[in-house]
Amino acid sequence: MTPALDALYKDLHEHPELGFKELRTAALLANRMRKLGFEVTEKVGGTGVVAIYRNGDGPTVMVRTDLDGLPMEEKTGLPYASRVKTEYNGKPTFVTHACGHDVHMTWWIGTAEALLKVKDQWHGTLMFVGQPAEELVSGADAMIKDGFLSRFPKPDYGFAAHVSTSPTGTITIKEGAATSAVDGLEIIFKGRGGHGSMPQTTIDPIIEASRFVTDVQTVISREKDPAEFGVVTVGVFQAGSVGNIIPDEARLQLSMRSFSPKVRELLLDGVKRTADASAAALKAPSPEIRHLVGAASVLNDTALTAKTADALRRAGGDEVVVIPLSAPGSSGSEDYSAFVEAGIPSVYMMIGGFDAALIEDYKRRGEPVPSNHSPFFAPDAMKAVKVGVSALSISVISAMSK
Ligand SMILES: [Zn+2]
Ligand SMILES: [Zn+2]
Repeated sequence: MTPALDALYKDLHEHPELGFKELRTAALLANRMRKLGFEVTEKVGGTGVVAIYRNGDGPTVMVRTDLDGLPMEEKTGLPYASRVKTEYNGKPTFVTHACGHDVHMTWWIGTAEALLKVKDQWHGTLMFVGQPAEELVSGADAMIKDGFLSRFPKPDYGFAAHVSTSPTGTITIKEGAATSAVDGLEIIFKGRGGHGSMPQTTIDPIIEASRFVTDVQTVISREKDPAEFGVVTVGVFQAGSVGNIIPDEARLQLSMRSFSPKVRELLLDGVKRTADASAAALKAPSPEIRHLVGAASVLNDTALTAKTADALRRAGGDEVVVIPLSAPGSSGSEDYSAFVEAGIPSVYMMIGGFDAALIEDYKRRGEPVPSNHSPFFAPDAMKAVKVGVSALSISVISAMSK
């Protein structure tokens, strides 16, 4: 990694911003890309950046980075650790690049620089996309709703990469579903409030919601194929104020994960049916169900995966691991899937971010390496960026060749 990229990384790391608030970050990237000769459009879908570089006839290839940090305190003790504070949901919070999106932005700039140095090796249009609010699972969708597909050339291929806790020098590509689909729901069970000593005059929403919390797990254990991945978690259960008042509503929030579209649909349908049934059993009104967030699995394109993995292997240097279709993907989620669903055949890859010896050290102590979203997450950014730049450059050049 060049000293300039090192300085860029540390600057981004020290100045993280939350989803849809990435003003400084987006401006910084936009300026760098303009200096390289890209035609840059800012504020796409809020704080998104689209940078285009035309180099003759050929396909349009997209390279996407995310821009946002997380509302949490960094505890790495690094000299360039973030001390940024802001407000989130009305409460003060620290902000940290604990998911490594600062690493992604750095290899994104590095890849643009590297590709411009070898312009005779590729022909077509580069489309570098800075996507806001990945952590909110909504930035990609915001860009698409803001005319991403009509205002700019539609990409023929797309690439995105995420830094992982694997050893630096490894590039992992999952055939098929690379990440899990996520859905967040809010369910409000309606009842009729009253005195705790006269339950016969009430409809108890706590009973409705409690029945739902246990019954909903039968969607997982009895309706879903046990061989398929699927999770339903109730993470919020709020109702009532004191012991002798039966409240008039109970509020739940759920997170659901799945790989296949079939299971995703089954979970959504099963949760709704179970909620309706729990209310109907008490002759309560139908519960209010709101879909808070949703993103499909990132589905890697079969042909592009094979072509990209082949090009990366031929280039040598880094270890390329292709996880077969039959193996499960990552249970994490990612809204890059919105670009895939919009019809952009893509490859989403994981790039190792930790020194192999350090991983071994942790193993010996029986501890996991602090993962993405940990306050101690501290990848070897220099090495990861070097691999990211070469992996993305090789991928783009290979997609542009016949
Ligand atoms: Zn994250
Ligand atoms: Zn991330």
